[in-house]
Amino acid sequence: MKLSTDVKLPTISMSGFETPMSEEENAIQHSVHLFAKNVLRPIGRELDKMTAEQVIAPGSPLYTAYFEAAKLGIDSDLLTQMPPDMAVRVESLIGEEMGWGDGGLAISIGAAGFPLEMAKAVGNQELIDLCTGKIGCWMITHPDKGSDVTVYDVKKDWVPGVQGNKGNMFARVGEDEIVINGQCSAWVSNGAVAQVALAYLSADYGDGFFDSDGRPYGAAVIIPLDLPGVSRGKPLDKIGQRALPQGEIYFDNVKVPKRFAVALKENYYGNHTSAWSYAGTLMSQVWTGVARAAFEMALAYCHERKQGGQMLIEHQLTRYRIGEMMRRVELCRGVARRSLAYARQTPQGHAYATASAKVTVTQEAMKVVDEAFQLFGGNGTSRDYPIEKLFRDARAALIEDGENYVLTMRLGRLVQDLYADGWTQN
Ligand SMILES: Cc1cc2nc3c(=O)[nH]c(=O)nc-3n(C[C@H](O)[C@H](O)[C@H](O)COP(=O)(O)OP(=O)(O)OC[C@H]3O[C@@H](n4cnc5c(N)ncnc54)[C@H](O)[C@@H]3O)c2cc1C
Repeated sequence: MKLSTDVKLPTISMSGFETPMSEEENAIQHSVHLFAKNVLRPIGRELDKMTAEQVIAPGSPLYTAYFEAAKLGIDSDLLTQMPPDMAVRVESLIGEEMGWGDGGLAISIGAAGFPLEMAKAVGNQELIDLCTGKIGCWMITHPDKGSDVTVYDVKKDWVPGVQGNKGNMFARVGEDEIVINGQCSAWVSNGAVAQVALAYLSADYGDGFFDSDGRPYGAAVIIPLDLPGVSRGKPLDKIGQRALPQGEIYFDNVKVPKRFAVALKENYYGNHTSAWSYAGTLMSQVWTGVARAAFEMALAYCHERKQGGQMLIEHQLTRYRIGEMMRRVELCRGVARRSLAYARQTPQGHAYATASAKVTVTQEAMKVVDEAFQLFGGNGTSRDYPIEKLFRDARAALIEDGENYVLTMRLGRLVQDLYADGWTQN
């Protein structure tokens, strides 16, 4: 037992009840915090008030956010030089600070680097060079294939005798070339501005689109988006994360060298689950940061607003509500970080496991943002106060990167399979 001599205020950091941080960890957290405060937050608010077309127009502050983020010099190469536990904490601190600054921009900056991260993971220098310095996107959903991208086992999770969903984007894989037709969904983050895509699509290797179980074959390909045959739809207009530019991309006989594939027939679904798991870990850190931002705004407001003859914070009911919010932010952080550690360090992860953390974090974040909104009273509903933006941003996160009911259903499937494999039965 560790004994104290007195009851003093506990040690606390920007990210709550942390165990002691090294000088390097502190320095990284503070520099990302300053970036989030001075760049992401003001730019996010500015973009929120603009039309979807203005957000992506040349000269938009969106590009300043990308430019300044690149200058920070904080990327996966830095993390690989750290001991594993430190790398997890630093990755978590970075994601949280970015989300604290602006949820939509944090996702946009994360998605921008996704093709590059995949190129590094497969160790393909040509693709690393192709993706470096470019705005990327992750293209996995199609207009008719949303939650269905999370189906891995058509024998268990599909209608018997019916072939799986092959979506709206197709690859014909030849000897040296992949020919792509169709389109991705309007929801693809950065779809409206991306220069390179990490795309997951149904594939025909010469024997049709389905295996004998009815599961679609797939190909994961890095596609330069300046190739002939690529065109864009209108940028998506939506209620939240308006700083995140989304939109459809169309493909008309787009020819990509086969060596740009990062996974083909045999390892497609393994690569798919790894990529999705990678995205899910970012989501959890970012929405922890958004929850914290809402909590901090509510805490400050309780020290400014007087009702019942005293500041809101002096009322027992309000203190309870603040305590409840703080507890939920800590819960988000704990779950987000544990899931990140699991994804990065366990020998065999699974996207459904990572996605379950994303569900917990986004639901808890939504509760915190909702309660903060309520604490602002009528002011919360006004565009003059920042809380309404967080409310809109957080709402979209319950659907982003997989709709939360579906993800929880898939976790149930995973639990069922683990039980059948013997887990908990001793
Ligand atoms: C902010 C944001 C960012 C995004 N970024 C990207 C991105 O970068 N790349 C990308 O490819 N996509 C992206 N998406 C798309 C996102 O992954 C999908 O919106 C999500 O997976 C849900 O698919 P859907 O919208 O087609 O809804 P649907 O799958 O049509 O779901 C509609 C409803 O049906 C229910 N439902 C679906 N399937 C079942 C089932 N089997 N059983 C019972 N109920 C079911 C769901 O619970 C849901 O309530 C993004 C979305 C958002 C909102």
